[in-house]
Amino acid sequence: MTMNHPGNLFVITAPSGAGKSSLVKALMAADPALQLSVSHTTRAPRGQEQSGRDYYFVSPEAFEAMVQADAFVEWAHVHNHRYGTSRQAVEDKIAQGQDIILEIDFQGALQIKKRFVEAVTIFILPPSWEELRQRLVRRGEDSPEVIELRLKNAATEMAQVERFDYVIINELFERALADLHTVVQSQRLKLPSQRRARPNIFKALNLT
Ligand code: 5GP
Repeated sequence: MTMNHPGNLFVITAPSGAGKSSLVKALMAADPALQLSVSHTTRAPRGQEQSGRDYYFVSPEAFEAMVQADAFVEWAHVHNHRYGTSRQAVEDKIAQGQDIILEIDFQGALQIKKRFVEAVTIFILPPSWEELRQRLVRRGEDSPEVIELRLKNAATEMAQVERFDYVIINELFERALADLHTVVQSQRLKLPSQRRARPNIFKALNLT
């Protein structure tokens, strides 16, 4: 799909423990014009998670039916479950001029980049292996074995960083948040985005 539609599409990827969810949450609070896409998953809800807000929690059969119906713009196996972004969650919204954020894994991010050439892909890195390990330990969610598995997976995921457009290093949270917001704002200042956002100004300047 070429991007002569009005909205911008941002894809954010990070290994677990890099702080992606907190950064995205703060970005959404700072920039109400952004909309977070709600993915489908076959994993069970955790804690306070609600279907329709955090994910659409669906059975493996329902997910497979959506795959067969070509209802996903991307999907992938992550940690033994399937996760996908529905076409409806993306295409309708960018066509209406919404700026959308996808918080998805690297396999999904690369599929999106192939399909939407102007999508902006952003990779969040931790400042060091030691800090990543510390964050996973501090989070207190996982056994030592699971932490080792997450670190092993993180190495594979981080090797994909070179295929992304932007890199945010999450050393100081506020700095990383400002960097993330800068990426979003820069995309909005590109000529095609400005033309779409401010058509009257271009018209008045005879720049149509
Ligand atoms: P969690 O189960 O911890 O919420 O998410 C596990 C991983 O799946 C995270 O890396 C998250 O970014 C990724 N993920 C969430 N939704 C999607 C999606 O729609 N597509 C893909 N490819 N990955 C997703």
